[in-house]
Amino acid sequence: MSSTTKPAVPNVVLQSSFNMPVIGFGTASETNDGDTVKAAAIEAIKLGYRHFDTASCYGSEQALGEAIAEALKLGLISSRNELFVTSKLWLSDNHPHLVLPALQKSLQNLGLEYLDLYLVHFPMSAKPEIRKFFYKEDELVPFDLKGVWASMEQCHNLGLAKSIGVSNFSTKKLQDLLSFATIPPAVNQVELNLSWQQRNLREYCKAKGIMVTAYSPLGANGTSWGSNDVMDSEVLKQIAHVHGKTIAQVSLRWLYEQGVTFAVKSYNKERMKQNLEIFDFSLTNDDYQKINQIKQERKVKNGPAGFDVADLLWDGEN
Ligand code: NAP
Repeated sequence: MSSTTKPAVPNVVLQSSFNMPVIGFGTASETNDGDTVKAAAIEAIKLGYRHFDTASCYGSEQALGEAIAEALKLGLISSRNELFVTSKLWLSDNHPHLVLPALQKSLQNLGLEYLDLYLVHFPMSAKPEIRKFFYKEDELVPFDLKGVWASMEQCHNLGLAKSIGVSNFSTKKLQDLLSFATIPPAVNQVELNLSWQQRNLREYCKAKGIMVTAYSPLGANGTSWGSNDVMDSEVLKQIAHVHGKTIAQVSLRWLYEQGVTFAVKSYNKERMKQNLEIFDFSLTNDDYQKINQIKQERKVKNGPAGFDVADLLWDGEN
């Protein structure tokens, strides 16, 4: 590949029948400022990213929207339809009557007429008037999955979300959802990386036609919610060395070979480029034997709660 050729990112087809590019550009950061996000997203479009992952709680919707508008103006893309944009419903809006207004607000922030994918961010609800990242116990309220999903279906039927899905759902919660959903979730976005491989959940989702999107695909190194387990792994260092690749590329290649999609976050041009260059090598049986030995540990234990909600969130599953 010449240095000017963009790596082509393959698509998967969701059960909603829409295409989703395998590689997504993540925009969660504790230090998100508008200028940085906008510049990084424009650079990402130049490099070949076509799938963007945001959420109402990331503070990145508006800057991403500005980047998309700028990319159109610069002719980097000829139509918004060339992009796949995901956003997510936050806990304080996780109530049946607040879903549509929340989606409308996200669209307004992004300056878009529709989302490609709208996700229920967590299977948890907070009091509507309390909007923050980490909730205390008395700020959470029971989650009405059935009512919220009916509103998500309404968003789809209005043409405001081409596909709808969930995030941070266990197999048990997916089972509940599938028992009444008229429109099944197209995607379940979950923590998934070489040190949290989620075999059971992946198998369940595959059997039900639900596409898994991996978040924290590198283990979210350097963030408060992640760890360096993946990026500091000696085993992965050896595998990467043999292929002349980086640990990040081995990690992302593994996800691709599992048939899942992923959102990886970097605002650094070289690393953004590197994270796209995963389609020119394959992992060997020997690599897989080593990969299967990697110690497994969930990093996102409590999600958006400042106290232990592991049972509430993950239903004892691994
Ligand atoms: P991640 O993508 O696994 O890791 C991001 C970290 O890795 C950043 O510190 C980044 O730093 C660094 N990095 C990226 N590429 C690298 C490379 N090639 N070599 C070395 N370091 C590299 O973690 P994440 O941000 O948690 O997950 C990705 C996206 O998933 C998020 O941005 C967000 O869109 C989504 N997400 C969703 C949820 C959910 O609940 N649904 C939760 C978490 C995340 P630099 O920027 O300095 O390169």
